[in-house]
Amino acid sequence: MAQYVPEPFRIKMVEPIRLISRAEREAALKEAGYNVFGLRSDDIYIDLLTDSGTSAMSQAQWAAMIEGDEAYAGARSYHRFKAVMDEIFGFKHFVPTHQGRAAENILAAIMLKDGQYIPSNMHFDTTEGIIRAKGGRPTNLVRAEAFQPKERVEFKGNMDLAKLDAFIEEKGPENIPFGMITVTNNAGGGQPVSMENLKAVSKVYRKYNIPFIIDACRFAENAYFIKLREPGYENKTILEIVQEMFSLADGATMSAKKDGIANIGGFLAMNDEDFYNQARNELILREGFPTYGGMAGRDLDAIAVGFKEAMEEPYLEYRLAQTTYLGESLLEIGVPIIEPPGAHAIYIDAGQLLPHIPNTEFPGLALSSAMYIEGGIRAVELGSVAFAYQDPDSGEWVHPALEMVRMAIPRRVYTQSHMDYIVDTLRKIVENADQFKGFSITYQPKLMRHFTAQFKPL
Ligand SMILES: *Cc1c(COP(=O)(O)O)cnc(C)c1O
Repeated sequence: MAQYVPEPFRIKMVEPIRLISRAEREAALKEAGYNVFGLRSDDIYIDLLTDSGTSAMSQAQWAAMIEGDEAYAGARSYHRFKAVMDEIFGFKHFVPTHQGRAAENILAAIMLKDGQYIPSNMHFDTTEGIIRAKGGRPTNLVRAEAFQPKERVEFKGNMDLAKLDAFIEEKGPENIPFGMITVTNNAGGGQPVSMENLKAVSKVYRKYNIPFIIDACRFAENAYFIKLREPGYENKTILEIVQEMFSLADGATMSAKKDGIANIGGFLAMNDEDFYNQARNELILREGFPTYGGMAGRDLDAIAVGFKEAMEEPYLEYRLAQTTYLGESLLEIGVPIIEPPGAHAIYIDAGQLLPHIPNTEFPGLALSSAMYIEGGIRAVELGSVAFAYQDPDSGEWVHPALEMVRMAIPRRVYTQSHMDYIVDTLRKIVENADQFKGFSITYQPKLMRHFTAQFKPL
């Protein structure tokens, strides 16, 4: 039996959920064009679509929201938020945004020109979409083990440093307006990046004078992995580790819907004064005045408290243990996952589980459909639907290395028996794996097609 850590909280407000009948689930999925993004949340029993904005806020966060100051400029909420930002992330400047992609859009609007390259360990889907939409080339340079699901290495999200250096030499630093790294590596299974790797990446970017931007969405989870796994960090606090991580970078993009444990919010942070002045102007055009950006004052307060709660060790211990419990339980019943489990999600290797479905027929979509039909569980395909793209030079379709389905775990929302229910549902799917069929696309937009594409079963 997988190990568990009891929740370090008790529940004082509940939100009812219900499992509609199998016939209703089949009708709902058909109605949604076999895209789980099109389902009504009322028709879902366990919603693992994302951990973004879906976490449960604490009593302290709700209490802080009551004190929100909604002044247009110079609100108390802004100053409380700024104090926490300065302490944790330590950048000279920041602008608050309504979510992570708003920060990415402002970054791209200021820094990125047509045809330029943006290296990272792995870009997440919004980052990749935003870079492509501006004519840029997002490039993933994560270590090779990231594509071997069964390989248990401790920092599977690390950048391949030799590849990074060679890439910059090949493309020329003048064609790389900034470089990134994502912590933890969401698209690669939620795998952490070590401090040693962050230091080395920082050094490479500095060598070529390329600004280093951290995609910081799961900064606290990444810091906890460093504390657990990296020699020399076992006696440091999470705050100290986080401060060291960000001291290595020139800026950061953040979705506070992740490790802000809030329902909305984010920021773009930087040290460079000129970049800040441009970001502020873009912010005013796109989001709002610099002391609230894309948020209400009360949202800033919820996040200021959430950032601190996300760094509490009993919370992080429970968080990682819950996800690990789900992952190890699935391995016990023969479900192939990306190993070892990350903190925010379990990624099923759908290509491995449904080997009879080729990547052109979307094994991940077949699995996510099966999870909804069997158990009312919503999970997201992160395989060829989400990540296959047409090469701008050759026009050919390039498929990702792995066909994955991500089960993201909202923070502090589901209990251990919900995890057991998910395992029981997957057990039924494993037993009938050879019966599931692939899909073809009936509608797709040009970019980020997984959100709105429509399908039909083959
Ligand atoms: C969620 C996420 C983003 C984008 O943030 P949004 O708040 O959804 O716009 C960017 N990068 C990573 C790694 C993410 O997980």
